[in-house]
Amino acid sequence: MLVKIDLHTHSYYSDGTLSPVELVRYAKSQGIEYLSLTDHDSVQGVIQAQNEAESCQVKFISGTELSVRWRNIDIHIVGLALNIDDLNLRKQLDNQAGVRIERAIEIAKKLEVVGISNAYEKAKRYAKKNLITRPHFAQVLIDEQYCKNMQMAFKKYLKRGRTAFVRANWMGMQTAIDTITGAGGMAVLAHPLRYKLTNTKLNDLIADFKQLGGEGIEIISGLSPINEISNLSALCQKYDLVASVGSDFHCLEKTPDAMKYLRHIPNDIETILDRILA
Ligand code: AMP
Ligand code: MN
Ligand code: MN
Ligand code: MN
Repeated sequence: MLVKIDLHTHSYYSDGTLSPVELVRYAKSQGIEYLSLTDHDSVQGVIQAQNEAESCQVKFISGTELSVRWRNIDIHIVGLALNIDDLNLRKQLDNQAGVRIERAIEIAKKLEVVGISNAYEKAKRYAKKNLITRPHFAQVLIDEQYCKNMQMAFKKYLKRGRTAFVRANWMGMQTAIDTITGAGGMAVLAHPLRYKLTNTKLNDLIADFKQLGGEGIEIISGLSPINEISNLSALCQKYDLVASVGSDFHCLEKTPDAMKYLRHIPNDIETILDRILA
């Protein structure tokens, strides 16, 4: 039997546009049977999503997506099935929230130079729940007609090396994995191909992740093509990790079909869901 699983999604508690309740209802409408809400550096939407999932008969797994510094690169580590009341988890998330605010203030200063005044306050208005992300600054750039869409805002201003990029002091990989496992959860390396690493560096990243206690990697992220899935499956087996799958859904406007067309993990690969349910 093929179960539809989505273990990576966002709500308006980070940079998504739906409320946790709307997200769960949407997932249900797309046929998702197992769902996790994984907002960036936050677990604030989890209870609402969990309650709604119960009424919709969607099986729900708590989650978050931590922003992490590995070497000189920003990566994402998803934590699944964690105790969201864990004190150290809360402390680390508070710390990340502080890092976000500091970074947002610095991004705003850089945008001021470009000609956008009060970008911090403007971005904050888009951040429904006070967690300011780069997509919120992208909105400001689009509003003020500096760019025509999100991609261009990143390409011209917000990504590494561009005018308004600010290096955030995110937690390290060891802290991220320890925080997740310390809260009883499992650490999953998010979208490994999104970091644009050389093959050697990608192997280093996965080897470090495994060595520090990571459990799984996302072999399917959004509408991943088959060849990427098989390359990542091979890496999964090479490093004795299990496989995860997630749409990385943020909003209906951009990716309305991300959940509907989410692929299944190949039969011969152990899934993180098996471990969570074990
Ligand atoms: P932040 O955690 O504030 O640095 O924001 C990261 C988020 O920005 C990611 O989770 C994506 O949702 C979004 N993002 C990153 N790069 C791009 C890009 N090139 N185009 C569109 N969105 C992006
Ligand atoms: Mn995001
Ligand atoms: Mn991510
Ligand atoms: Mn994500």
